[in-house]
Amino acid sequence: TTFRASVRVVREGGLDGMLVCFEDETPREHAEQMRRDFVANVSHELKTPLTALIGFIDTLKGPARADAAARDRFLSIMESEANRMNRLVSDLLSLSRVEAEERVRPTARVDIAGLIRDSVRALEPLAQEAGVTVEADLPESTPGILGDRDQLRQVLQNLIENAIKYSGRGAVARVSLTGPAYEPRVRGHGVRIQVTDSGPGIDPIHIPRLTERFYRVDAHRSRERGGTGLGLAIVKHIVNRHRGRLLVDSTPGEGAQFTVVLPTG
Ligand code: ADP
Repeated sequence: TTFRASVRVVREGGLDGMLVCFEDETPREHAEQMRRDFVANVSHELKTPLTALIGFIDTLKGPARADAAARDRFLSIMESEANRMNRLVSDLLSLSRVEAEERVRPTARVDIAGLIRDSVRALEPLAQEAGVTVEADLPESTPGILGDRDQLRQVLQNLIENAIKYSGRGAVARVSLTGPAYEPRVRGHGVRIQVTDSGPGIDPIHIPRLTERFYRVDAHRSRERGGTGLGLAIVKHIVNRHRGRLLVDSTPGEGAQFTVVLPTG
């Protein structure tokens, strides 16, 4: 904790006095430190693939010039490094857009059940490749909610993608929608979206930090699966914008469950 002390001499009604003020500087320093950490993280995340790209370009210009097989192999690594940078920059743009809009209430009517159906369908190829079955459990009809369709699609995509990415072959991921019902967490009526997987789960000590930017339980595993470490931070901001709640629950070894409660009113 840091305090800033200032001293002023005051004269009032012929009396001399001294005013000593103590101001707590901790919140400002904390915000400044977070900003510095963020810049350092972004720089590091961008520099790693860039360094690899520069190294491969050098090799391609020199020793690998005449070796067609090596050239193909290097080009495909370069492609995946460039894709990684592309994903990172896209996520950074999403994050800053979402943050900028966080105080603006979304106003469109969104059919959540339809959005879930679309998202599951869109991720079907990824699920198949990973050997994970994704099931949707949707009610016959649900009222639309006030929201931002693209952002809610991004929430679903990030959560379902994580369920696929972090569960092993043969796992099952389920997306369910329930409500509207009274939800104390949003102090009113809301719908509940749950993405549950049967993967390795998350140790409870990590759960409070999962939505921090670049926080990963296992950095190697995340990178290997193409993760940027920003997915849940984006989810959190979007849910906040919708005045909703994000809850994470997990039994290690049995799976993880991400719940999003969105107010209907
Ligand atoms: P990433 O791009 O690394 O996936 P996220 O912000 O989406 O970043 O997630 C942060 C971390 O939370 C991941 O690196 C992973 O360790 C953990 N995580 C997220 N979803 C799951 C899940 N369904 N099962 C296990 N771990 C998960």
